[in-house]
Amino acid sequence: MERRTFLGFMGMGIMASVASAGETLPYYVWVKEEHHALLASIVRKLDAIERVVGYANFNLIGFDATLLVARNHPKIIAFTPEEQAYIEEIFYTDPVQYGFYGKRTIDNLTDTIDEKEVVKIHGTGHYLFKGTSHTALGRIIKDVGKSVVLTSGVRSVVKQLALHLRKIQSENGNITLAAHSLVPPGFSYHSLGDFDVGKRGWGHENFTANFARTPEFWSLQKLPYISMRYGVGNNDGVRFEPWHVQIV
Ligand SMILES: [Zn+2]
Repeated sequence: MERRTFLGFMGMGIMASVASAGETLPYYVWVKEEHHALLASIVRKLDAIERVVGYANFNLIGFDATLLVARNHPKIIAFTPEEQAYIEEIFYTDPVQYGFYGKRTIDNLTDTIDEKEVVKIHGTGHYLFKGTSHTALGRIIKDVGKSVVLTSGVRSVVKQLALHLRKIQSENGNITLAAHSLVPPGFSYHSLGDFDVGKRGWGHENFTANFARTPEFWSLQKLPYISMRYGVGNNDGVRFEPWHVQIV
């Protein structure tokens, strides 16, 4: 049996226990062999662009601006037509085939974030939308305490693309597993006002189920103005994300 078929077959049992939309995924979807080099090259360029524009700015950068930075920066090679086509394919593909059932939040790859609508949150490298989201974070910190920090706010299509592609790489090309923990670009509620919080000083541990064991998490649960977007067994097919805040 060919390796992928075998792994895909083995995967059925695993996914049956974690698929949360009441459906058992029939198989894993993998990055095609001929796309591996393309994917790696795109991620390298996105990483380089993030270093050039800075971590905070990369949260907001649009697709056209990304292409421009790559084209104009002496140390980055412009995105090839093949790379651009592959990015378009990723963005416009219906992720239901990966077991992701969430709704589309951004219609066009070239949609941008209006910088006048966001506010930078000091000391975090992240932004929030002015108004409801910004107010909610202020209330959270007031109600729960300063041990709660913003760990991810507004994300552009490009930022979500980078996170999603890096996750596919760390899942060895398994798009189904990647989409389960990092929503595909165009489907993130981070572009509509949701944000992530964590416990100060906890680093990456904030993005694990262990966050649900912290006193901060339990205090957050009591707040009437927020809820958890991705609870256990959510209909979107996303893993349990106790850190991801939805404004209600
Ligand atoms: Zn989130």
